[in-house]
Amino acid sequence: MTGIFRNCIGGEWVDGATTSLNRNPSDAGDVVGEYAQADAAQARAAVAAAAAAFPSWSASPVQQRFDVLDRAGTEILARRDELGTLLAREEGKTLPEGVGEVVRAGNIFKFFAGEALRLAGERIPSVRPGVDVEVTREPIGVVGLITPWNFPIAIPAWKAAPALAYGNTVVMKPADLVPGCAWALADILHRAGLPAGVFNLVMGRGSVVGEAIVTDPQVAGVSFTGSVSTGRAIAAKLVARMAKVQLEMGGKNPLVVLDDADLGTAVTAAVQGAYYSTGQRCTASSRLIVTEGIHDRFVRALAERMAALRVDDALAPGTDIGPVVDRTQLDQDLAYVGIGQAEGARLVAGGERVARAKDGHYLAPALFTEATNAMRIAREEIFGPVAAVIRARDYDEALALANDTEFGLCAGIATTSLKHASHFRRHAQAGMVMVNLPTAGVDYHVPFGGRKGSSYGPREQGRYAAEFHTVVKTAYVAP
Ligand code: NAD
Repeated sequence: MTGIFRNCIGGEWVDGATTSLNRNPSDAGDVVGEYAQADAAQARAAVAAAAAAFPSWSASPVQQRFDVLDRAGTEILARRDELGTLLAREEGKTLPEGVGEVVRAGNIFKFFAGEALRLAGERIPSVRPGVDVEVTREPIGVVGLITPWNFPIAIPAWKAAPALAYGNTVVMKPADLVPGCAWALADILHRAGLPAGVFNLVMGRGSVVGEAIVTDPQVAGVSFTGSVSTGRAIAAKLVARMAKVQLEMGGKNPLVVLDDADLGTAVTAAVQGAYYSTGQRCTASSRLIVTEGIHDRFVRALAERMAALRVDDALAPGTDIGPVVDRTQLDQDLAYVGIGQAEGARLVAGGERVARAKDGHYLAPALFTEATNAMRIAREEIFGPVAAVIRARDYDEALALANDTEFGLCAGIATTSLKHASHFRRHAQAGMVMVNLPTAGVDYHVPFGGRKGSSYGPREQGRYAAEFHTVVKTAYVAP
């Protein structure tokens, strides 16, 4: 422990009203650090600082924005091992997954450094002689960024980098469980040369700090990633005061496995999609929809691969699956294992707590078979290493089952049939479609987001991030 990690408000590192201990889910005895917890007044002070910094940052030269974001990206990439270790320690992803996420965050800053230079407008001939029409994008103002615990650095990065690149000022509130990576990001941005007040970090409770950001009239828009219930509640408040809103929420993503699939490809996609990152991904494949002809072979091969997965300390070499993020989430996962059994699904692998050398929240990845799409384990987001196999007669039924969900983030298919792959790409009701790939694991430079209950508002990432982070102006000019 190295003292208290403070909030960053108006370019100053300030104490919070209280502090909170950041604990390692792999090891109850390991405290990652003590982090300041802001109250509502500090959140409002952060918004005021961001509002004061907006006029000058919104007019800053794009070279300045490029330089800051590029420097931040360079430092993040150079510190990948150290930050990846911090991430694995506070969230429970394995070290390679943690390092991979840090690299992604660094690349996102590099990408949006370039985007600051590429924000083009349009010049269009007017229908009126002698008049020019110009369409340009401008920053929206102060943006509130509210992030979940499962991607402690990538999600803060993919919200903050476009916000800053397009000239907005930021108030960020990370998830309570993982303040460490967000603090490291704030420190990096601070030292990368951002003027005071352009990026503010306020750690603390969602119901206090998050609420203060959402309801502050000086916040022009909020980009939120988290659960459906929180997302809906904050959207209602933002829409009521006509602020911009961007929500990324839950998923119940299907992986369809057809009779003609390559078995190895299908099993790899299922193992990685359902269980890596301890299944704690909005894009996790929690519904494995498998056609009759391959069903038994697929289940056998998947159970074999699962038996070889090593569940242990996120930092231990050779760990495939780290711990569940905390006790509450572990209890929720275990409750769903019980619900699945009570509903009549067959638990064929895992689903029980496992003891390791260190006292962590370890859960053996769980696989259900004989599930139906009506069961709660097939309809509700569990957000843990729990997946259910649902049997389908043929492709048509599999597609119908895949789409029979209130979510629509990602949908995958394992098949060697061009016809079915093409049809699925076109007809899967999801924001992202994967063919012979896991549903989780996406590029950083293309749009990310879903349909139906999974997302609301404009897409994140890639050039599409400009939709949320800018507002369009149409100017008519006569000589
Ligand atoms: P959560 O909804 O509990 O919290 C998300 C954030 O909102 C946290 O920072 C929290 O403190 C804050 N918050 C809570 N109450 C608030 C309030 N009243 N006002 C303002 N802010 C408030 O979600 P979580 O448990 O941190 O994350 C898990 C969820 O995130 C899962 O449902 C998962 O699917 C989702 N997720 C979605 C995506 C995606 O892009 N679709 C990506 C990652 C995670």
